[in-house]
Amino acid sequence: MILLYGADTAEKIKEEISGMLSELKGYTPTLGIVRIGSNPSDISYEKGAVKKMESLSLNTKVFEFDENISSDDFIDEFKKINEDDEIDGILLFRPLPEHIDEKKVIEVLDERKDLDGISYKNIAKVFAGDESGFAPCTAKAVIKILESNNIELEGKNVVVLGRSMVIGKPVAMLAIQKNATVTLCHSKTADLKKVCKNADILIVAIGRAKMINDDYIGEDAVVIDVGINFFEGKLCGDVDLENVKNAAMATPVPKGVGAVTTSVLAQHLVISALKKRLY
Ligand code: NAP
Repeated sequence: MILLYGADTAEKIKEEISGMLSELKGYTPTLGIVRIGSNPSDISYEKGAVKKMESLSLNTKVFEFDENISSDDFIDEFKKINEDDEIDGILLFRPLPEHIDEKKVIEVLDERKDLDGISYKNIAKVFAGDESGFAPCTAKAVIKILESNNIELEGKNVVVLGRSMVIGKPVAMLAIQKNATVTLCHSKTADLKKVCKNADILIVAIGRAKMINDDYIGEDAVVIDVGINFFEGKLCGDVDLENVKNAAMATPVPKGVGAVTTSVLAQHLVISALKKRLY
């Protein structure tokens, strides 16, 4: 089995970003990271994002808020960040605490700064096949990994496992846009193993440690594992990769999709800065 390491795709995205940066003629884009509280997985993602931006000579500004901030106060602060001309793009950690009106916050976010595709306009664009918006970074990272490894989507049976708005649904739409035939599965799908076995490309995003084994994987399938779980104190994906024999290619966890997500975020930031010159 060939392992599809995210670092190879990240390197290709880095080259694309370098070309785009030269068009900015010395201007350095700034990412605004907005976080309420200090959830360990948010902090861990933030560290990776800051490191990635540094490695690409991009700026980051972290806006951290107390988890007891009121909904109105947070919305006021978020409006200021959204309108700040020095901030070219925003990453907002979600879910927000329950007392914060998330819908109102998302409505404030300018879709041109919405690097992780959470605003309604960007979601609509992904579903309409309009590539002028920003898709969620992880969903885009999956497509980037396939493309950079020359894995054709056109005409392929793609099965997506998981129907969340951050991964499952948008990645299904992006694959359809590339002319794949897509089946979107979830916890109520009947004959899940049979449906998955039929996939040329199986994209797994369910958050169930090592659940997917050869019972779900057809001969010579390509398996993209988006899952990030902890099992017996170790980071692992949704796929039991150590015991998989059927797949021709698969992404590992760690060092797979997660390694590409922050590269896509950086690329979206640079695209946002480039577009800003036009409005
Ligand atoms: P989520 O919102 O919890 O959605 C999980 C989806 O999986 C749901 O649609 C659920 O079905 C489905 N599902 C759960 N158990 C299932 C089962 N036994 N059989 C079939 N379907 C099942 O999760 P998410 O936010 O999409 O995240 C998915 C995974 O990706 C998590 O492990 C997360 O940590 C990881 N992740 C990775 C990255 C990255 O950069 N690599 C980024 C974000 C998230 P129902 O809709 O029927 O409930």
